[in-house]
Amino acid sequence: MTKIHSLGYPRIGAKRELKFAQEAYWQGKSTAEDLLNVAKEIRKINWTEQKDFDLVPVGDFSFYDQVLDMSQTLGVLPKRATDLGGDDLDQFFRAARGRSPKDSGAGVAASEMVKWFNSNYHYMVPEFHCNTEFTPNTERLVAQIKEAEALGVAIKPVLIGPISYLWLGKEKDDCSRISLLTKIIPAYGKILADLKEAGADWVQIDEPVLVMSLDEKWRSVFATTYGGVFPDAGLKVLLTTYFGALKENLELLQNAKVQGVHIDVVNAGWTEAESLLKSDKEIVSLGVIDGRNIWKADLNALLDKLEPLAKTYGDKLWLSSSSSLLHVPVDLDLEDSLDAEIKSWFAFARQKLQELRVLRKALNEGRAAVEAELSANAVALQGRRASTRVNNPAVKSRVAGITPDMDKRADTYETRAAAQKSLNLPLFPTTTIGSFPQTAEIRKYRSDFKKGLIDEATYKAAMQADIKQCVEIQEELGIDVFVHGEAERNDMVEYFGEQLAGYVFTKFAWVQSYGSRCVKPPIIYGDISRPKAMTVEWTKYAQSLTSKPMKGMLTGPVTILNWSFVRDDQPRSATCNQIALAIRDEVCDLEAAGVRVIQIDEPAIREGLPLKREDWQEYLDWAVKAFRISVCGVKNETQIHTHMCYSEFNDIMESIAAMDADVITIETSRSDMKLLEAFETFNYPNEIGPGVYDIHSPNVPTVENMVDLMEKAAKRIPVERLWVNPDCGLKTRGWAETKPALKNMVDAAKELRSKFAK
Ligand code: GLN
Ligand code: ZN
Repeated sequence: MTKIHSLGYPRIGAKRELKFAQEAYWQGKSTAEDLLNVAKEIRKINWTEQKDFDLVPVGDFSFYDQVLDMSQTLGVLPKRATDLGGDDLDQFFRAARGRSPKDSGAGVAASEMVKWFNSNYHYMVPEFHCNTEFTPNTERLVAQIKEAEALGVAIKPVLIGPISYLWLGKEKDDCSRISLLTKIIPAYGKILADLKEAGADWVQIDEPVLVMSLDEKWRSVFATTYGGVFPDAGLKVLLTTYFGALKENLELLQNAKVQGVHIDVVNAGWTEAESLLKSDKEIVSLGVIDGRNIWKADLNALLDKLEPLAKTYGDKLWLSSSSSLLHVPVDLDLEDSLDAEIKSWFAFARQKLQELRVLRKALNEGRAAVEAELSANAVALQGRRASTRVNNPAVKSRVAGITPDMDKRADTYETRAAAQKSLNLPLFPTTTIGSFPQTAEIRKYRSDFKKGLIDEATYKAAMQADIKQCVEIQEELGIDVFVHGEAERNDMVEYFGEQLAGYVFTKFAWVQSYGSRCVKPPIIYGDISRPKAMTVEWTKYAQSLTSKPMKGMLTGPVTILNWSFVRDDQPRSATCNQIALAIRDEVCDLEAAGVRVIQIDEPAIREGLPLKREDWQEYLDWAVKAFRISVCGVKNETQIHTHMCYSEFNDIMESIAAMDADVITIETSRSDMKLLEAFETFNYPNEIGPGVYDIHSPNVPTVENMVDLMEKAAKRIPVERLWVNPDCGLKTRGWAETKPALKNMVDAAKELRSKFAK
């Protein structure tokens, strides 16, 4: 009999109940007990939902992050978080956010947060020292096992395995974290013994690190650990990988001395799955239902693959989601105003469980037992394939007609820079990244307009008033290249998605990003096109108020793609090209409207990098090309800016240069301009604006501080190619600190000009 299980279920609650409970507790508006009760209720709902599953995950719930949970279970929360005392929850929140609601005083430094593999989920980075000791604490897990057992579900505790756990962390002194393996293994022994005693038969040990390009030393410790060192506590181990293919690491999984293995078939493919099935494992779990996307699975096609495997391998075959369902929204049934046809193509977490049930029944009792479900699935998929709303021949043929000249500017940077001299910019030109403070008033106008409480004319007048104010302030400050302030935008992707054909928006399709933060990525279901200009009117109005150049402000195709749920029926690169053409049209329309400087933000270009190094170049090639398609329709005189804001440029420098923007603005102030090293070493050929102040802090940077940073920059980059600007957009700041900060920034630029003027 084929069995089914899930690797994890969303813990935010169908309507983000956890978020609201967390935030109320953090703000002192509720008690710890209130929070614990909400959590208990969510777990109960989740387990009840999976009650008929052959195994149900326990330990996938978290008050913040599962890696931080693992740190607490291993007894290695940062010392600064535990030193202040309190109970487990206090220490946990202190490690997560710098303070427990019960703390008085300044709190401690929060743990560092990093993206979880190639997802938009962030985990809290474990911190290691030479003298790190592991003192396991299984109280949380054991208590949850009891809760789950009381509901009558078959439990499967979930842990992050030792190799991935160490790999995900960082050393805080110069001792190698691999050397901690000898200490961490006994801790797992103790944890497993406690789980066994609490009634577990199986334990899911996540080792997602196997989908990464590992160097020899990590591969070798993996081999020894699972070659007999990993403690045998009498529990069966399901060694679990997800998010990618195993490739050269496949043999590590095959050779692991464990009872079961799980592979993400959606991303790894059937060949790897079959070679695992051929191994001597007792159980091979195939992740056939996509845990990272919102599309219905093709159940009939899956059964074509699975039936022969079930016949050959019998009880050895288990089925699951490809990864934890944490990465998909909770329940499609809540979407009461979604277009019915489009809705019929989706499956969220709850619906994905149902897909697994149908597969199990079909394999165990024959397809006839689920005939109705299978034919409904086939109808929905057939509908999607044939829908004229998905396929727009005009868009397809436009993409097919992209010619090589479309991703090249007419001339080189030098020639363009000479043509752009007509902008009459001084040395060290000043600008900002796009958004200005979004006051409560602006937000209210936007939401009232959305709800239909105010008419278009009122809304437009309010936005124009804000633009006017932004222009006046910039005029007063003496900034060189203006922005209109982005008051009309709630989010840099949503704003464009709402105006592009091929996108659909949901009400409740939230996914955890970190802590209590959730995102609601818009969904690309069809060919993307731009029914009409999206930003021209606002920019034109802004430009009409000043003789200074007004920067047109757009989000780039790669960022729009990476921050959306993307269709799975064509390569991502094809979808990206469609978006690129839509943005290209907008860029050209802006130019035609007299806008001479246009910025196309690409902050998400790096996070789209594939997990395996060998796949990077292919991605970077099409991503850079899409960016270039979007900007290269303009004349030499039109200055193209791009903006990025994350720290590791080193390994993708070549691609950043290949984007060939006339100006790139980046976030650097926190790294004390160290980031510019990459640009210097690479000999970056175009202009750069290294952010001189950290917009995440309310502090007003001083003139000296910014002059100092720019002088450091000037040691690395020729001054004729330097711009002066903040790190990122200012939408989360208030005017009270923004104005003096920008005033100081302009003064710093003036000082630099007199220092460096020949
Ligand atoms: N133009 C955007 C803004 O200023 C850029 C935001 C970003 O880089 N994330 O808000
Ligand atoms: Zn930014």
